[in-house]
Amino acid sequence: AGPDLFGDRRNSAGWDLTHAPTLAALDIARAAWREHLWGAAPILAEGPLTAPSGGTEDSVTSPVDGLLVGRVVAATPEVVRAAHGAARTWDAPVAERAATLRRAADAYEEHAPELFALLAREAGKALPDAVAELREAVDFLRYYAAEAEAAGEAPPRGIWGAISPWNFPLAIFSGQIAAALATGNAVLAKPAGQTPLTAARAVALLHGAGVPRAALQLLPGGPETGAALTALPLDGVAFTGSTATSRRIRESLAEHAAPGTPLIAETGGINAMIVDSTALPEHAVRDIVMGAFRSAGQRCSALRCLYVQEDVEGRLLTMLKGAMDELSLGDPWHLATDVGPVIDHEAAEGIRAHVETARAEGRLLHELPLPASSGHYIPPTILRVKDIAAVGREVFGPVLHVATFRAGEIDRVVADINAMGYGLTFGLHTRIDDRVEEIVTSVEVGNLYVNRNQIGAIVGSQPFGGEGLSGTGPKAGGPHYLPRFRAPAAPSAAP
Ligand code: GLU
Repeated sequence: AGPDLFGDRRNSAGWDLTHAPTLAALDIARAAWREHLWGAAPILAEGPLTAPSGGTEDSVTSPVDGLLVGRVVAATPEVVRAAHGAARTWDAPVAERAATLRRAADAYEEHAPELFALLAREAGKALPDAVAELREAVDFLRYYAAEAEAAGEAPPRGIWGAISPWNFPLAIFSGQIAAALATGNAVLAKPAGQTPLTAARAVALLHGAGVPRAALQLLPGGPETGAALTALPLDGVAFTGSTATSRRIRESLAEHAAPGTPLIAETGGINAMIVDSTALPEHAVRDIVMGAFRSAGQRCSALRCLYVQEDVEGRLLTMLKGAMDELSLGDPWHLATDVGPVIDHEAAEGIRAHVETARAEGRLLHELPLPASSGHYIPPTILRVKDIAAVGREVFGPVLHVATFRAGEIDRVVADINAMGYGLTFGLHTRIDDRVEEIVTSVEVGNLYVNRNQIGAIVGSQPFGGEGLSGTGPKAGGPHYLPRFRAPAAPSAAP
C-alpha cells in the first residue's frame, strides 16, 4: 500500500457555487459587508499598536473601484525590532498547538462571508477564486497541524519571518504562519503592502483560536518594513514574492543571520504549456483559459507561454478566442464575474505597456473589451511570440503568449523552456504516452501537470514549489515542508 496521504485529515469541503441556496446566502452576506471599513496595525505581543506610536496611517483602497476599504498603520523599523525582542517560541505540547490551529481553521470557515468580502474588496478576487483561496488557507492550517502531530515533539528553530504576497493574501499568508507555529516557532508576519487588512483579520482569528500573541505578531507595511525584518538575526524566513526580492532577502540574511539560516522562497516563473496535435482541443482550451486567465493571471503558477503544434494552431486559436469571449470581466461582487481587476495602478500600467508594445509590433491576437469602470482592469489578451524567450519577463496579469512548433521540434521547445532558468509549473496536453514520459523527465520544473490545467495545487496531495529562479526550499503543502522549521538535530558526540 502507498503512504496514507490523508489519515484523519480531509481537505475543506468548500462552498458549492452551483448550489442556489449557497449562492443566495453568500450574496446576502457579501452585500452586508459592502460598506465595511477594516483596519490593520502592528499587532505585537502586548496588543495592537495605533498611530502615531506604531507608525503613520494610510488608506487602503480597492482595486475594484478605488473606494476606501480600510486603514493601515505600517510597522516602523523600531516597531519591527520591538516585535523581535518580544517574540517567544510556542512551548505548548504539539497536540495543543495542532488543536489550536484546527480551531483557527474552523474560525476561518465560520467567517467565510467576511473573508470573501475582504478578498473581493481588498484584493479584487472573483468569488470562485476567493472560495478556492479560503479552502487552501484552511487546508494549510489543518495539514500542517496533522503533519506536526504525526512527527511528534521536536524543538523549533526560533523566530521566523513570514513574508507573503498580495496574490494569496489569506492562503499563503496563513500557510507560512501555520507551518512555523505548528512546529512551535515564533512568527513575525509581514503581509504584502497591498493586502494588510485580510492579514489583520486572519491574525485576529488565529489569536482568537488561542495562538499566543508572543508567538504570532503582525507587522504590516511595505518594503521598508520588510527590509527592517530581514535585517534582524532571524532563525528562518518563509518568503513568497518576486525573484528580485528573494535575492535581497538572501543577501540580508547572509549579513545578519547565523550561517545556515533557512530561506524558503517561492518566486516567479514564465510557465509554459505544450499542446501537441494529438491533444483534445476542447480539453486543452478549457485548461488554457483556467491557467492563463483565472485570478486575472495573478498566480505565479499561471500559464504565460503556450506552445501549440503548428498543424492544430488555427483550430485551437479559434476555439480559444471563442472561450475567451465567454469570460465575464468586471466587479468581483457580481456572481457571474470570471475575471476581476489586477491589484493596483502600477501593476496595470506595467501590463498595459507590455501589451501596447506587442500591439505596435502587430503581435496582438485577441483582446476582450474593457469594462466601463474605474477599476484596474486588464482584459484577457493573447499575444503572438516567436518563442518563450521573446516573452521577456513575468507579466503578472491575464496576458497569454502563443508560440508554435513543428512536429520534431519538441526537444528544442523543452530546451528553450529550460533555458529560461525558471522552473515553477508546466502543462502538457497530449495523448501520446511516450511523449509524456519523455517530457516529464526533461522539463525542469517544480509542478508538472499532464492533460490538466497548471494552477491550484491542492494542499496535501500536490506539494507546490519551483526550482531555479522560481524558488528554493521544500514545497508548500507537502511532507518535506515542516522539517525545515525544526531545529537541526545536534551532531552526535563522537563515540
Ligand atoms: N499555489 C498556487 C497554485 O498552484 C499558486 C501560488 C502563487 O501564485 O504564489 O496556483
